[in-house]
Amino acid sequence: MHPGEIVTDWIEALIKANKAPRCLAKTRLARLCQSPAMKNGRCRMHGGKSPGAPCGKKHGRYKSGLYTKQQKLKHYETNQLIKATKLLFCKVNEAI
Ligand SMILES: [Zn+2]
Repeated sequence: MHPGEIVTDWIEALIKANKAPRCLAKTRLARLCQSPAMKNGRCRMHGGKSPGAPCGKKHGRYKSGLYTKQQKLKHYETNQLIKATKLLFCKVNEAI
């Protein structure tokens, strides 16, 4: 292998590394971290290695399931239906 090839390979690898997605966590200096991000979008210092807390009943503070993602989505959909119904009643009252 020629030494020139090693350098060009190294430069190509460096260019690829610089194109990697960056961590957007806010630092104590109120700037973005900008370190290379892992799969979850954070760097090794800002939770990139951690998968996060478990969801649902596996979570230590789980009690009734009232605030799970599914339940929150149901609440949102119900509220949207209520808003739509109120709007419909208003339009019907205006028409009468
Ligand atoms: Zn970071």
